[in-house]
Amino acid sequence: MKTIGLLGGMSWESTSLYYRKINEATRLALGGLHSARVVMVSVDFSEIEQLQHAGDWTACAECLSAHARQVEAAGADLLLICTNTMHKVAAEIEAAINIPLLHIADATAARIITAGHKTVGLLGTRFTMKEEFYRGRLEQHGLEVIVPDDHDTQIVHRVIYDELCRGAVKDKSRDAFVEIIAKLGSRGAQCIIEGCTEITLLVQAGHVDIPLFDTTEIHAEEAVAEALH
Ligand code: GLU
Repeated sequence: MKTIGLLGGMSWESTSLYYRKINEATRLALGGLHSARVVMVSVDFSEIEQLQHAGDWTACAECLSAHARQVEAAGADLLLICTNTMHKVAAEIEAAINIPLLHIADATAARIITAGHKTVGLLGTRFTMKEEFYRGRLEQHGLEVIVPDDHDTQIVHRVIYDELCRGAVKDKSRDAFVEIIAKLGSRGAQCIIEGCTEITLLVQAGHVDIPLFDTTEIHAEEAVAEALH
């Protein structure tokens, strides 16, 4: 099995899910006491979050590229950036390393297409929902992307940074997300991308009628498939 490299800590609440899901998928595939070969560099998210909200994406790219090189030097055969948002600087990170990057939006789009959907509702940080780097990547796969209006975008963004990345899972916020998801469904979304690696902590399949695509789980499972390839 190849060694999976994780660039994590954004936030660690979801990186811990990655570690669990990667090992669960490995056990499912190989059985017995098998577990995944993993190396990880986990950042201080406070520093990254400040750079994001200051709009200093160049510094984000430099910082994460340096950490990605550490992951590679530690023996990783492939790299996962364990956050949707920081795929904004995926090209810079990819250029800094010699191992393949498993892009979270590509893995997610492939699953959605296999499931037969065409129009997706996208939830994530404001950066992920509003900017081209993520929506555009989904559209390149032939998907149509619907995002919440500005008011709902603010709610989703705030809940991610002020609650989920701090380990706070609140019923009131789940209710708000369920309502926002219903609106996306009524606008034509056939499924929802949980395009932030913490959203799965708040909303799971039992909470809504529409199919959910959890990027954390998909990314972790695709990494194991690739590592076993
Ligand atoms: N984990 C989140 C994501 O998947 C948000 C944290 C971040 O800004 O990286 O986008």
